Amino acid sequence: MRQLILAANWKMHKTVDDAEFFLKRFMEEPSGITGLELVFCPPFTALYPMAQLIKETPFVLGAQNMHWEKEGAYTGEISPLMLRELGVRYVILGHSERRRFFREQPQEISLKVASAFNFGLNPILCIGETEEERRQGHTEKVLCRQLREALADSLHIDKEHASKLVIAYEPVWAIGTGLAASGKDAGEAAAIIRSYLAELLDKERAAVIRIQYGGSVNSDNILDFVSLPDIDGALVGGASLKPGSFKELILALDRLRRS
Ligand code: PEP
Repeated sequence: MRQLILAANWKMHKTVDDAEFFLKRFMEEPSGITGLELVFCPPFTALYPMAQLIKETPFVLGAQNMHWEKEGAYTGEISPLMLRELGVRYVILGHSERRRFFREQPQEISLKVASAFNFGLNPILCIGETEEERRQGHTEKVLCRQLREALADSLHIDKEHASKLVIAYEPVWAIGTGLAASGKDAGEAAAIIRSYLAELLDKERAAVIRIQYGGSVNSDNILDFVSLPDIDGALVGGASLKPGSFKELILALDRLRRS
Protein backbone atom coordinates (compact mmCIF):
# COMPACT_ATOMS: atom_id res chain seq x y z
CA MET A 1 0.00 0.00 0.00
CA ARG A 2 1.54 3.31 -1.06
CA GLN A 3 1.26 6.15 1.43
CA LEU A 4 -0.27 9.41 0.24
CA ILE A 5 2.33 12.17 -0.10
CA LEU A 6 1.63 15.88 -0.33
CA ALA A 7 4.60 18.15 -0.97
CA ALA A 8 4.63 21.94 -0.76
CA ASN A 9 7.01 23.53 -3.25
CA TRP A 10 7.53 27.07 -2.05
CA LYS A 11 9.90 27.89 -4.93
CA MET A 12 11.67 31.24 -4.35
CA HIS A 13 9.06 32.41 -1.85
CA LYS A 14 9.32 33.12 1.87
CA THR A 15 12.06 34.59 4.01
CA VAL A 16 12.89 32.83 7.28
CA ASP A 17 10.41 35.14 9.04
CA ASP A 18 7.68 34.28 6.53
CA ALA A 19 8.36 30.55 6.84
CA GLU A 20 8.17 30.69 10.64
CA PHE A 21 4.99 32.72 10.51
CA PHE A 22 3.44 30.19 8.11
CA LEU A 23 4.33 27.21 10.27
CA LYS A 24 3.07 28.78 13.47
CA ARG A 25 -0.27 29.57 11.83
CA PHE A 26 -0.42 26.17 10.16
CA MET A 27 0.20 24.32 13.40
CA GLU A 28 -2.39 26.27 15.38
CA GLU A 29 -5.00 23.59 14.73
CA PRO A 30 -3.12 20.43 13.76
CA SER A 31 -5.87 18.24 12.37
CA GLY A 32 -6.46 15.92 9.47
CA ILE A 33 -2.91 14.85 8.73
CA THR A 34 -2.92 11.22 9.70
CA GLY A 35 -2.09 8.69 6.99
CA LEU A 36 -0.47 11.40 4.93
CA GLU A 37 3.19 12.24 4.46
CA LEU A 38 3.47 16.00 4.41
CA VAL A 39 6.66 17.49 2.98
CA PHE A 40 7.63 21.17 3.10
CA CYS A 41 10.14 22.28 0.49
CA PRO A 42 11.15 25.84 1.42
CA PRO A 43 14.08 27.78 -0.08
CA PHE A 44 17.50 26.60 1.18
CA THR A 45 17.77 29.53 3.59
CA ALA A 46 14.69 28.46 5.54
CA LEU A 47 15.62 24.77 5.84
CA TYR A 48 17.53 25.02 9.11
CA PRO A 49 15.03 27.16 11.03
CA MET A 50 12.16 25.04 9.73
CA ALA A 51 13.96 21.87 10.79
CA GLN A 52 13.98 23.23 14.36
CA LEU A 53 10.30 24.16 14.24
CA ILE A 54 9.03 20.84 12.88
CA LYS A 55 11.16 18.63 15.16
CA GLU A 56 8.20 17.52 17.25
CA THR A 57 5.76 17.26 14.34
CA PRO A 58 5.05 14.55 11.74
CA PHE A 59 6.05 16.95 8.93
CA VAL A 60 9.19 16.35 6.91
CA LEU A 61 11.51 18.63 5.01
CA GLY A 62 12.43 18.67 1.35
CA ALA A 63 14.85 20.76 -0.68
CA GLN A 64 14.13 22.11 -4.15
CA ASN A 65 17.40 21.10 -5.81
CA MET A 66 20.94 19.97 -5.06
CA HIS A 67 24.28 19.20 -6.69
CA TRP A 68 25.18 15.54 -7.15
CA GLU A 69 28.65 15.75 -5.58
CA LYS A 70 29.28 15.54 -1.87
CA GLU A 71 31.63 18.56 -1.92
CA GLY A 72 33.93 20.41 -4.29
CA ALA A 73 34.64 23.57 -6.25
CA TYR A 74 31.05 24.24 -7.33
CA THR A 75 30.39 27.84 -6.34
CA GLY A 76 26.80 28.49 -5.36
CA GLU A 77 25.78 24.85 -5.09
CA ILE A 78 24.45 22.80 -2.16
CA SER A 79 25.42 19.17 -1.67
CA PRO A 80 23.33 16.16 -0.61
CA LEU A 81 25.47 15.83 2.49
CA MET A 82 24.66 19.41 3.50
CA LEU A 83 20.96 18.74 3.07
CA ARG A 84 21.06 15.55 5.03
CA GLU A 85 22.86 17.28 7.87
CA LEU A 86 19.85 19.59 8.23
CA GLY A 87 17.44 16.67 8.45
CA VAL A 88 16.16 17.04 4.89
CA ARG A 89 14.47 13.85 3.68
CA TYR A 90 13.23 14.71 0.18
CA VAL A 91 14.68 16.64 -2.72
CA ILE A 92 12.78 17.91 -5.76
CA LEU A 93 14.81 17.16 -8.89
CA GLY A 94 14.31 18.08 -12.53
CA HIS A 95 11.52 20.60 -11.92
CA SER A 96 10.47 22.11 -15.25
CA GLU A 97 11.46 25.57 -14.00
CA ARG A 98 15.01 24.31 -13.49
CA ARG A 99 15.03 22.60 -16.87
CA ARG A 100 13.71 25.74 -18.54
CA PHE A 101 15.30 28.69 -16.74
CA PHE A 102 18.57 27.08 -15.66
CA ARG A 103 19.08 24.76 -18.64
CA GLU A 104 19.33 21.72 -16.43
CA GLN A 105 20.31 18.80 -18.62
CA PRO A 106 18.97 15.22 -18.47
CA GLN A 107 22.40 13.81 -17.62
CA GLU A 108 22.68 16.15 -14.61
CA ILE A 109 19.22 15.15 -13.41
CA SER A 110 20.19 11.50 -13.64
CA LEU A 111 23.35 12.12 -11.59
CA LYS A 112 21.29 14.00 -9.00
CA VAL A 113 18.72 11.21 -8.68
CA ALA A 114 21.46 8.60 -8.19
CA SER A 115 23.27 10.83 -5.72
CA ALA A 116 20.07 11.40 -3.72
CA PHE A 117 19.71 7.62 -3.31
CA ASN A 118 23.38 7.34 -2.32
CA PHE A 119 23.01 9.96 0.38
CA GLY A 120 19.75 8.64 1.79
CA LEU A 121 17.54 11.38 0.32
CA ASN A 122 14.25 10.59 -1.38
CA PRO A 123 14.03 12.10 -4.87
CA ILE A 124 10.85 13.77 -6.07
CA LEU A 125 11.57 13.55 -9.77
CA CYS A 126 9.51 15.96 -11.88
CA ILE A 127 8.58 15.10 -15.44
CA GLY A 128 5.95 16.51 -17.77
CA GLU A 129 5.17 17.60 -21.29
CA THR A 130 4.81 21.12 -22.65
CA GLU A 131 1.56 22.36 -24.16
CA GLU A 132 3.00 21.99 -27.66
CA GLU A 133 4.16 18.43 -27.00
CA ARG A 134 0.68 17.49 -25.76
CA ARG A 135 -0.99 19.19 -28.74
CA GLN A 136 1.19 17.19 -31.11
CA GLY A 137 0.33 13.92 -29.36
CA HIS A 138 3.83 13.41 -27.95
CA THR A 139 2.94 13.20 -24.27
CA GLU A 140 3.70 9.50 -23.86
CA LYS A 141 6.97 9.75 -25.78
CA VAL A 142 8.13 12.73 -23.69
CA LEU A 143 7.22 11.14 -20.34
CA CYS A 144 9.01 7.89 -21.21
CA ARG A 145 12.07 9.74 -22.49
CA GLN A 146 12.31 11.89 -19.36
CA LEU A 147 11.97 8.83 -17.12
CA ARG A 148 14.56 6.89 -19.10
CA GLU A 149 17.03 9.79 -18.95
CA ALA A 150 16.50 10.64 -15.29
CA LEU A 151 16.76 7.06 -14.08
CA ALA A 152 19.70 6.11 -16.31
CA ASP A 153 22.08 5.99 -13.33
CA SER A 154 19.58 4.39 -10.95
CA LEU A 155 18.25 1.37 -12.81
CA HIS A 156 19.86 -0.97 -10.27
CA ILE A 157 17.90 0.35 -7.24
CA ASP A 158 16.31 -2.30 -5.05
CA LYS A 159 12.68 -2.37 -4.00
CA GLU A 160 13.32 -0.46 -0.80
CA HIS A 161 14.94 2.40 -2.69
CA ALA A 162 12.19 2.30 -5.31
CA SER A 163 9.65 2.81 -2.53
CA LYS A 164 11.45 6.06 -1.66
CA LEU A 165 11.23 7.43 -5.18
CA VAL A 166 8.42 9.84 -6.01
CA ILE A 167 7.62 10.79 -9.59
CA ALA A 168 5.79 14.09 -9.90
CA TYR A 169 3.82 14.24 -13.12
CA GLU A 170 3.72 17.96 -13.80
CA PRO A 171 2.45 19.02 -17.21
CA VAL A 172 4.39 22.22 -17.85
CA TRP A 173 1.28 24.01 -19.14
CA ALA A 174 -0.52 23.42 -15.84
CA ILE A 175 2.15 24.81 -13.52
CA GLY A 176 1.20 28.15 -12.01
CA THR A 177 -1.41 28.81 -14.70
CA GLY A 178 -4.60 27.96 -12.83
CA LEU A 179 -5.31 25.44 -15.63
CA ALA A 180 -4.96 22.06 -13.97
CA ALA A 181 -5.03 18.91 -16.06
CA SER A 182 -8.29 16.98 -16.00
CA GLY A 183 -8.43 13.92 -13.78
CA LYS A 184 -8.70 11.84 -16.95
CA ASP A 185 -5.51 13.26 -18.51
CA ALA A 186 -3.57 13.04 -15.25
CA GLY A 187 -4.76 9.48 -14.67
CA GLU A 188 -3.74 8.43 -18.17
CA ALA A 189 -0.32 10.02 -17.75
CA ALA A 190 0.19 8.32 -14.37
CA ALA A 191 -0.74 4.94 -15.88
CA ILE A 192 1.79 5.52 -18.69
CA ILE A 193 4.42 6.40 -16.10
CA ARG A 194 3.79 3.32 -13.98
CA SER A 195 3.77 0.98 -16.93
CA TYR A 196 6.99 2.46 -18.31
CA LEU A 197 8.60 2.19 -14.87
CA ALA A 198 7.71 -1.52 -14.97
CA GLU A 199 9.57 -1.78 -18.29
CA LEU A 200 12.59 0.17 -17.08
CA LEU A 201 12.83 -1.52 -13.67
CA ASP A 202 10.30 -4.31 -13.19
CA LYS A 203 6.67 -4.65 -12.11
CA GLU A 204 7.45 -5.18 -8.45
CA ARG A 205 9.55 -2.04 -8.10
CA ALA A 206 7.20 0.01 -10.28
CA ALA A 207 4.31 -0.91 -7.99
CA VAL A 208 5.90 0.72 -4.93
CA ILE A 209 6.93 4.00 -6.57
CA ARG A 210 4.63 6.87 -5.68
CA ILE A 211 3.32 9.17 -8.39
CA GLN A 212 2.12 12.68 -7.64
CA TYR A 213 0.20 15.04 -9.84
CA GLY A 214 1.36 18.67 -9.86
CA GLY A 215 0.02 21.73 -11.67
CA SER A 216 -2.48 24.23 -10.24
CA VAL A 217 -3.70 21.85 -7.56
CA ASN A 218 -6.12 23.38 -5.05
CA SER A 219 -8.68 22.20 -2.53
CA ASP A 220 -11.40 22.11 -5.20
CA ASN A 221 -9.58 19.79 -7.60
CA ILE A 222 -7.20 17.69 -5.49
CA LEU A 223 -9.67 14.84 -5.10
CA ASP A 224 -9.93 14.54 -8.91
CA PHE A 225 -6.30 13.39 -8.82
CA VAL A 226 -5.67 11.52 -5.61
CA SER A 227 -8.76 9.36 -6.03
CA LEU A 228 -7.18 7.79 -9.15
CA PRO A 229 -5.52 4.38 -8.82
CA ASP A 230 -2.05 5.43 -9.99
CA ILE A 231 -1.87 8.81 -8.25
CA ASP A 232 -0.58 8.86 -4.70
CA GLY A 233 -0.50 12.54 -3.87
CA ALA A 234 0.28 16.00 -5.17
CA LEU A 235 3.10 18.48 -5.56
CA VAL A 236 1.63 21.86 -4.79
CA GLY A 237 3.05 25.29 -5.55
CA GLY A 238 0.74 28.30 -5.28
CA ALA A 239 -1.88 26.73 -3.00
CA SER A 240 0.79 25.78 -0.45
CA LEU A 241 1.91 29.34 0.17
CA LYS A 242 -0.87 30.34 2.57
CA PRO A 243 -1.57 28.33 5.72
CA GLY A 244 -5.34 28.56 5.10
CA SER A 245 -5.32 27.31 1.50
CA PHE A 246 -2.86 24.54 2.30
CA LYS A 247 -4.95 23.45 5.28
CA GLU A 248 -8.00 23.33 3.00
CA LEU A 249 -6.17 20.88 0.75
CA ILE A 250 -5.35 18.65 3.67
CA LEU A 251 -8.89 18.73 4.96
CA ALA A 252 -10.12 17.73 1.49
CA LEU A 253 -7.73 14.75 1.54
CA ASP A 254 -8.89 13.83 4.99
CA ARG A 255 -12.52 13.81 3.83
CA LEU A 256 -11.53 11.41 1.05
CA ARG A 257 -9.71 9.13 3.49
CA ARG A 258 -12.73 8.96 5.75
CA SER A 259 -15.26 8.34 2.97
C1 PEP B 1 4.99 23.35 -8.89
O1 PEP B 1 5.70 24.32 -8.78
O2 PEP B 1 5.53 22.23 -8.83
C2 PEP B 1 3.56 23.53 -9.05
C3 PEP B 1 2.84 22.48 -9.28
O3 PEP B 1 3.07 24.80 -8.94
P1 PEP B 1 1.51 25.24 -8.93
O4 PEP B 1 0.80 24.36 -7.94
O5 PEP B 1 1.53 26.67 -8.52
O6 PEP B 1 0.99 25.03 -10.31
